[in-house]
Amino acid sequence: MAPVARAYAAGGGAESMKLMLLGAPGAGKGTQAKMLMDRLRIPQISTGDMLRGAVAQQTAMGLEAKRYMDAGELVPDEVVIGIVRDRLAEPDCAKGFILDGFPRTVVQAEALETFAALDRVLDVQVSEERIVSRLSGRRTCRACGAIYHVVNSPPSVDGVCDQCGGVVYQRSDDNEASIRERLEQYRAKTAPLVAWYADKGLLASVDGDADPEDVQATILDLLGVSDQS
Ligand code: AMP
Repeated sequence: MAPVARAYAAGGGAESMKLMLLGAPGAGKGTQAKMLMDRLRIPQISTGDMLRGAVAQQTAMGLEAKRYMDAGELVPDEVVIGIVRDRLAEPDCAKGFILDGFPRTVVQAEALETFAALDRVLDVQVSEERIVSRLSGRRTCRACGAIYHVVNSPPSVDGVCDQCGGVVYQRSDDNEASIRERLEQYRAKTAPLVAWYADKGLLASVDGDADPEDVQATILDLLGVSDQS
């Protein structure tokens, strides 16, 4: 598959870079999306972050979504499709974006096609064993979304984000029952997107078991972006 980002590697930034990170919960999509955002200077569009923002603000939509999120179930398609359609219409998405956690169903993928054309879908593959250990130990900054792990990568000061000083907490859906349900939902509803995007010639698979920096290097390589530039 041809690299999509020659212009970025050359510092031109003229080519579009509309990316989507696919993968089970805990595959490292959020971590990779944040690294890509810094590297490519295009926004990370995380439906999970946007929904948690709506929950924190106690909007009607947020309160409805929370029920599904805490149970580890998917929020109804029409809700997330509307959120993403509005977000992608904002000017900072014109040159590109990194979709993180959307689409999660074929219905969402079909809807996305009506308002955006992806350049590449990166499927981050991680063993189930590793996913459960990552999610059960995961801690997240409430303010900036930075991701930590109680054992593998704790913040320097317990409960305080290294990057912004925000409060580091455990997401209410990062508990065992919810993790099991999210994996089940992934298998039933999201995994079919792997074949769906492969058929469209957009899919590239990445080994997500490696260290985050190595996973990022593989992704940049696949995109044709020089690691150095
Ligand atoms: P995430 O932060 O991506 O793990 O998402 C957390 C939760 O938000 C999921 O378990 C779902 O309940 C909900 N969610 C996020 N993105 C979507 C989506 N594209 N479709 C449906 N529900 C979603």
